Amino acid sequence: MSLIQEFDRPLIIAGPCSAESEEQVMKTALQLKADGRTNMLRAGIWKPRTRPNSFEGVGHVGLPWLAKAGKETGLKTTTEVANAKHAELALKAGIEALWIGARTTVNPFAVQEIADALQGVDIPVLIKNPVNPDVQLWLGAFERFEKAGISDLTAIHRGFSVYNHAKYRNVPNWEIPIELKERRPNTPVICDPSHIGGKRDLLFEISQKAMDLNFEGLMIETHPDPDNAWSDAAQQVTPRGLAGILDELILRSHEVSIDVASQIDDIRMKVSDLDDRLFDLLSRRMQMSEEVGRLKRENNITILQQEHWRKIINHRLDHSDEYRLTRKFVRKLMDAIHQESIRHQTAVMNPDKTNPSEG
Ligand code: PEP
Ligand code: MN
Repeated sequence: MSLIQEFDRPLIIAGPCSAESEEQVMKTALQLKADGRTNMLRAGIWKPRTRPNSFEGVGHVGLPWLAKAGKETGLKTTTEVANAKHAELALKAGIEALWIGARTTVNPFAVQEIADALQGVDIPVLIKNPVNPDVQLWLGAFERFEKAGISDLTAIHRGFSVYNHAKYRNVPNWEIPIELKERRPNTPVICDPSHIGGKRDLLFEISQKAMDLNFEGLMIETHPDPDNAWSDAAQQVTPRGLAGILDELILRSHEVSIDVASQIDDIRMKVSDLDDRLFDLLSRRMQMSEEVGRLKRENNITILQQEHWRKIINHRLDHSDEYRLTRKFVRKLMDAIHQESIRHQTAVMNPDKTNPSEG
């Protein structure tokens, strides 16, 4: 029986970003078990950190902590492996499922090395999307494991890395996991809202969206004392916090996915994704306006340069047909953007005199 068949939907994987101590892993596991809705216990043993001086995981000494917590609670265990050695050690410790991190999926050499190490082993493997939005690379990782004889494969959508996003730590680009589902209709896809959101306030919204898009489960980082976690503190929740999120989730029947209502839902999700991007772009545009404001202040130039503005708006109006937007709408939108931009520049140029929230 595959991982996804073994449990009811949604499959819930929870546990700390990183294993920190035997007590912390056990405490998390017991609290999750008491709630009863978690199926699998996760804990990072080797942590792929962006900068070398942050906590890089406790290493193999943490494996028996995870295995023990799994045994004690009956929760199935999983950890991230990034090379053949990790895979061997995790198997030896009796970890029951392995996941491939986003920074590993991106590298076909590393994926191949792990697939080779697992040749002939019967173990579920969960594959996170690569950090960059490339569905081919993600598909390639599945193919490498399949070639090594691993058939119990699950995808984890954890978002895609971008520079300086206003809302997400990793932008969801929902169309990419949707494309993966289309290309591999039998592969379950679960969502990791923790790494998409980067902050706990976003977990519910992202989880609900994943459920509405028929994702089969969730992986949510859970820690007994999130604020003092050694990694990813801002995005972790307590087991009680996780229970609150699960209580609120609306689980719609996935049977309806083929009828019109669900098609509309899917389109709405895509529209909302586009809105997210629109607002992110607007936010970044205003940051640019502030940069211009700083230059104007340093050089003592007025904010409104009528000639420049006329050129900008005429350029957009000339293209309104191409955008399939009315000239009236283009003018209104550009005026609104312009006003907001002036507000941002004014705030930068006269920092003491303006109230930044004034419209
Ligand atoms: C993690 O799950 O803690 C992790 C490092 O995830 P990702 O590979 O998605 O960054
Ligand atoms: Mn993490």
